[in-house]
Amino acid sequence: MSRILIGAAVIALTVAALHSADARAVKTTKTNSIDIEYAEPKSAEHRQVLQLVKEGRTLERIQALLSPIRLPRRLLVKTQGCDGVSNAWYDGESVTICYEYLDELWKNATQETTPAGIAPIDTLIGPVVDVFLHEAGHAVFDILQVPLFGREEDAADQFSIYIMLKMEKDEARRLIMGNAYQYKGDVQSPTVSMPLKKFSDEHGTPSQRFFNVLCLAYGADKVLFADFVSKGYLPQDRAEGCEAEYAQVDFAFKRLIVPSIDVKLARSLHKRWLVPADTRLKKRR
Ligand SMILES: [Zn+2]
Repeated sequence: MSRILIGAAVIALTVAALHSADARAVKTTKTNSIDIEYAEPKSAEHRQVLQLVKEGRTLERIQALLSPIRLPRRLLVKTQGCDGVSNAWYDGESVTICYEYLDELWKNATQETTPAGIAPIDTLIGPVVDVFLHEAGHAVFDILQVPLFGREEDAADQFSIYIMLKMEKDEARRLIMGNAYQYKGDVQSPTVSMPLKKFSDEHGTPSQRFFNVLCLAYGADKVLFADFVSKGYLPQDRAEGCEAEYAQVDFAFKRLIVPSIDVKLARSLHKRWLVPADTRLKKRR
């Protein structure tokens, strides 16, 4: 063969190889890739936490919400006791949320509607959904090999908030308000004092995470979340850039995650996902 012909043949083979690699990737990437497990608690105290999350069909709801994401492998999302450690993580294999962490969120929830109008059930649901989506974010970045500039912890928060904002308006608002509620203890005072070491954490400080939630929500919908600014929860200086901040996350999500989402399936799921806002929040014994 002439050199030109050999060159052409090599290119043709390479293109064919690339195409078949693509085809393989598509074939092994599936929706409904989430497995769930409520591990048996080791302590009696966690039995009531297990009962709470089971009654709320928490893992089933998270599984449904994440089902439109096409993954090349299965991902296990589980709840388990962690020997007294209150934590949640993705370890390269599965997402684990400790009963200790869920119990803490339950303790932090309120039995009365808050002055900002957050229903008691939402003061639990918002933070619970957030921890699952945040850890799922870490998992999705890893499994889909999503490149990230900036801190992964911020990106995982953005992943969670973005999905909340894609729900129907009333549910999006309930989730966002409940999510912001978890930082209540850290943002009550206008002056925050904390050890310098806290700023070395890979996560933003709780108050920064609080303002980030409000800013992305306001940036996504200035009407639905107008009161964040009018009531002074979100300072005007930050609010001015929130539309651009949301646009940046929206662009990243559409470019990097949406190609792996069955959009039609996702749309059908984002209708009614939460229990009604007047659902009674069970008291912790
Ligand atoms: Zn994280």
